Amino acid sequence: MTADERTVCMHCGEEPLPGSGLVCAFCRRPVSPRAEALLSDPELQAAVQRAFAQAMYESSQRRIDWGGFALGVTIALVALAISLGTYDSASKGGGTYVVFWGAVLWGGWKALKSLAG
Ligand SMILES: [Zn+2]
Repeated sequence: MTADERTVCMHCGEEPLPGSGLVCAFCRRPVSPRAEALLSDPELQAAVQRAFAQAMYESSQRRIDWGGFALGVTIALVALAISLGTYDSASKGGGTYVVFWGAVLWGGWKALKSLAG
């Protein structure tokens, strides 16, 4: 019965979750002999390996913008140093202090964005 094949895992007897496909969500094994045959198919395994290799290749090709990262870190550190160094005077004046903290945040954001590619 194909209906039984689809609704109950042949290993653990659990009903596979909707959309979980060929592999049982509970015991992580093929849900049916047909699924087992499909999953052990050399062509499918080759396709999975190709997809995996492609994903690895694409992630290795992702460019990290080291120039932007260095710029962001430099700006953040310089602004941080100025912010801390001028804390006493600026805290009385107000504005300048806020501006440099803005630069710290912007530099940090730029550095993170550069890393994300
Ligand atoms: Zn199972």
